[in-house]
Amino acid sequence: MTAQYDILLKNGHVLDPTQGINQKKDIAFLDGKIALLEDSIPTKHSRKTVDVSENIITPGLIDIHGHYFEHIVPFATRADSVCLPNGVTTTMDAGSSGWTHFDGFREFIIESQQTRIMALVNLSALGMMASKRNIGENFGPTIGISGGPSTMLNPERVGELQDLRFAQVEEAIKCIKDNPNTVLGVKIRIDQDISGEANVIPALERARIVADATDSFIMVHVARVPIPLSKVFEYLNPGDIVTHIFHSAENNILDEKGYVRSEVKEAKDKGIIFDIGADRKNFGINLSKSAIEQDILPSTLSSDITKTRPGAEIIYTLPEVMSLYMNLGMTLEEVIECSTKTSAKAIRQEGLLGTLKPGSIGDASIIKIESGEFTYSDGENYEISASRKISPKLTIKDGKIWNSE
Ligand SMILES: [Zn+2]
Repeated sequence: MTAQYDILLKNGHVLDPTQGINQKKDIAFLDGKIALLEDSIPTKHSRKTVDVSENIITPGLIDIHGHYFEHIVPFATRADSVCLPNGVTTTMDAGSSGWTHFDGFREFIIESQQTRIMALVNLSALGMMASKRNIGENFGPTIGISGGPSTMLNPERVGELQDLRFAQVEEAIKCIKDNPNTVLGVKIRIDQDISGEANVIPALERARIVADATDSFIMVHVARVPIPLSKVFEYLNPGDIVTHIFHSAENNILDEKGYVRSEVKEAKDKGIIFDIGADRKNFGINLSKSAIEQDILPSTLSSDITKTRPGAEIIYTLPEVMSLYMNLGMTLEEVIECSTKTSAKAIRQEGLLGTLKPGSIGDASIIKIESGEFTYSDGENYEISASRKISPKLTIKDGKIWNSE
């Protein structure tokens, strides 16, 4: 008989939280989709068979926070160099571009990469082009505009929300409407260094208007947020995403005694998505451990991936973030769920992506758990040594084996 399938992965251990599968199974792909998932599928039924014994097959990983507007936004990286080699088949750019540059971002970057890239438009027309200055320590004071008195502004960087005139609601709405299935929502960074304190509430109010007008969602960066998280939650609905939720600067999730604040638990119960965004200066190892011990797990794991740069020499990929959190108290099943099932839900792709159900998009990640001695550190250089690591071995995207050539 003629072969029915394009690719067959044989003898792997399938771990798919959407179907509650955690056992040895074979999986076949046809025409870019997952075609069959059975205890055993004969090799003669497929044009190509890959033996993946000793490996784990998960749905294609989804990284909901990365920065890919390369050559335009300082430190943005190339999606195909950091996603597909690491088992990430789908990613979301978290507000690197504002509406003014979005057509260029889509045409020159999103459409040129093999990685499936979705995006959030930055509420600020500037996107993340305005950024940290690299001109040394001693330069003059900045000029205050609407971000508050000049003394409140960080002289080392020009934040995209320091001047509220850049927070352009109508244009952000149009950008989302003009780019269905690509622009999924709106991103804001409310951060002492990026918005200043005075602009935090106006930014939240404007982002809410954008999300409501487009039936989309907000992702809000809360590292170094200058107001209590309880205030931020007032502007968020179920399905909105709080990224850098385990940051350890002021106004974090813990109270003075180290307990998770009740309003944080309430927000999670209400359906607000807790995302990691593991840029090292935006998460704390001890705080993460403490939250997990108190049963507050992240909803989604994500990398916040960029290029390395002075002051950020270590950048974690998604499998590294998963490995880190597995060594901070989460199980393998939990870290996979937070990088597939809940990530797909967060970006409203439930049933299409983040699953190995027959009929869904044919993405899969083949990984291996390696034992050894590994170290991970946070922005305060607090280090942990770990005994297990997730190593990406093979990536299938749209029913095809990805290779770098
Ligand atoms: Zn980011």
